[in-house]
Amino acid sequence: MQEKNIRLNIPVRYLKGVGPKRSEQLSRLGVGTLEDVFYYLPLRYEDRSRLTPIRELKVGELQAVRGEVVTVSSRRAKTGTHIVQAALTDGTGSIHAVWFNQPYLADSLKRGQEIVAYGRVELYDKLQIVQPEYEAAEEADKGSLHIGRIVPVYPLTAELTQRYMRALIYQAISSCQKALIERLPTYLIAREKLVDVRFAVRSIHFPANFESLEKAYRRIVFEEFLILQLALALRKRSMKDRDTGLTHGLGGELVASFRKALPFEFTDGQRNAIADIERDMSSAKPMNRLIEGDVGSGKTVVAAHALTLTVENGFQGAIMAPTEVLARQHFIVLSEFLMPLGINVALLAGGIDAAAKERICGEIRDGSVHVVVGTHAVIEEAVAFRKLGLVIIDEQHKFGVTQRAVLKQKGYNPHVLIMTATPIPRTLALTVYGDLDVSVIRELPKGRKPVSTYWVEEDKRREVYGFIKEELGKGRQAYVVCPLIERSSESGVRSSGGTKAALDIFEKLKNDVFADFNVGLLHGRMSSKEKDKVMADFKKRKIDVLVSTVVIEVGIDVPNAAVMLVENAERFGLSQLHQLRGRIGRGEHESYCILLADPKTDEARKRLKAIEGTLDGFQIAEADLDIRGPGEFFGTRQHGLPEIRFGNIIKDLGIMELARKEAFAIVAKDPELNEEHHRLLKEALRERFRDRMDLAHVG
Ligand code: ADP
Ligand code: MG
Repeated sequence: MQEKNIRLNIPVRYLKGVGPKRSEQLSRLGVGTLEDVFYYLPLRYEDRSRLTPIRELKVGELQAVRGEVVTVSSRRAKTGTHIVQAALTDGTGSIHAVWFNQPYLADSLKRGQEIVAYGRVELYDKLQIVQPEYEAAEEADKGSLHIGRIVPVYPLTAELTQRYMRALIYQAISSCQKALIERLPTYLIAREKLVDVRFAVRSIHFPANFESLEKAYRRIVFEEFLILQLALALRKRSMKDRDTGLTHGLGGELVASFRKALPFEFTDGQRNAIADIERDMSSAKPMNRLIEGDVGSGKTVVAAHALTLTVENGFQGAIMAPTEVLARQHFIVLSEFLMPLGINVALLAGGIDAAAKERICGEIRDGSVHVVVGTHAVIEEAVAFRKLGLVIIDEQHKFGVTQRAVLKQKGYNPHVLIMTATPIPRTLALTVYGDLDVSVIRELPKGRKPVSTYWVEEDKRREVYGFIKEELGKGRQAYVVCPLIERSSESGVRSSGGTKAALDIFEKLKNDVFADFNVGLLHGRMSSKEKDKVMADFKKRKIDVLVSTVVIEVGIDVPNAAVMLVENAERFGLSQLHQLRGRIGRGEHESYCILLADPKTDEARKRLKAIEGTLDGFQIAEADLDIRGPGEFFGTRQHGLPEIRFGNIIKDLGIMELARKEAFAIVAKDPELNEEHHRLLKEALRERFRDRMDLAHVG
């Protein structure tokens, strides 16, 4: 093949050793072009570079040995399996190499020949190396792809062997590497100390050592992340340019009175978040900000502050919660903050009768309602505002661009604030939520007592009840959380086994275990009125023990509740457990979270360990991401993140941060990517986001 004019997009069938059949097999792996060959990355590597003397071999491990073939035997076992055995010796000891169902090997192995073999060493009646890959030592000495080096192992289907793939990639690299043209500008390579593209591609497959491998990986991931971040930077820039926002004035009296009335000082995180919000709302561009703050970090008061600001400027505000229970609670809390300032707050939720709803909608239309509290449905329903200035979306873990689009359709262009208690590292949030700005409230208000968390198994139930009784005796209240409402609600014929249902537990606790106390019940199938009554009674301490489902997951705030028992804790997700636990530890009392669980899977055990091991929401979110993977964690397609092929957004976060910094610097300096040294990046960007032009507004 002529080296000169080779391009990355030539089909694989032009490569040596690839006929029509191979070409088809490769295409099933997604390998269609030379570029695909170069970037078909190994799944893992085997260190076959070190030869172990036979005497020092460790049973059970993959190792490489070099020895002389002393005997070769070939036979058929009673089971029909064909077995070829070769005794090898290297002067320190001897070992039997064993192959199954490869009778032809008996002819290719010669007595007196030296071979290098790599495989798992086992001890049956004698020391064996089982099904090893091997090569004549003479060949291996000349440089082998399969032995005597760090060897790549690819994700393959049965039709293609590792040896074939290695040979193909090796050959492509040796004869076509000129096709690899450096896209990264020289200044960037120097500044970030990256290896060049040819070294990277060669070393990601056939590294000379682990250090080269590491450098190759870093370079390839950096490039991938840089292109992603360039797309984000460009999109952000184009959005910022397009919209004009509702510029708010700062320093008014209403906001000052709001602050003055607060019974506490803001934490640093709250102060910073408020400063960010004020900067956004007073600018000429619409705010599009995410506030990340752990459970209990005090996001509601930050929201109230922003609402006051918009009302002071003559606008209306809306705050949306994911559940009715939470919307109702927000309504109560916000009314306490805002009503005394003359701000008219209204609740728009299910369970409000049609006449009242109509009246409220009328007041929203004519502007006499200043702040509307409701569920997420509020913006989708036909609510017309007179002058909507600010929309706050609470506890929204998976925000897409959709909400904003809905608002726009209705002719609004308000400032948007999203609050989430599923904190993820900032760079990741900025990446995943693409067009949002992010403020992080890292700390909890002072004086919070840490919640002690215990994971216990079913056989400790009696002790657990005893403990809860003691706490109730001291005047505390408790939550008991169950995964189901009633047992039959679990699907199908399969019985729900040991899974606890709120209705059963409620009966048992009320009539038996906690018969001396008041036991209440809360679940999603109760009417809004009933739910309200139960929550109000719990707040007023008319209920000591509240049996519930995850309806209490978010936002509920009852400081005297200091104990939580979670039934079948293995059935809950990690961030769900963290949210649940966030319901306690809100007052001045020692708080306890007890997780009853007999987990059956490794994943469940990992979750329980993680939740037991830390109170830090950021660490929990990271563990959750790690256990479930980003697809599950963020919800597929909910976010603007395109598929990531090489890097790992959690493990490679450091590289992501660098790439982000560089990408934003590039776009700030060269917004159209017209400078000559950015030309190939621009091309790469176009190619990568061909199908997603919304991500790459490049001129
Ligand atoms: P979350 O961030 O989970 O929504 P909340 O807004 O419900 O948290 O706040 C939890 C509790 O902390 C509330 O009772 C609230 O009044 C209180 N709180 C908020 N900010 C502070 C502060 N700076 N100092 C003391 N308590 C605070
Ligand atoms: Mg909240």
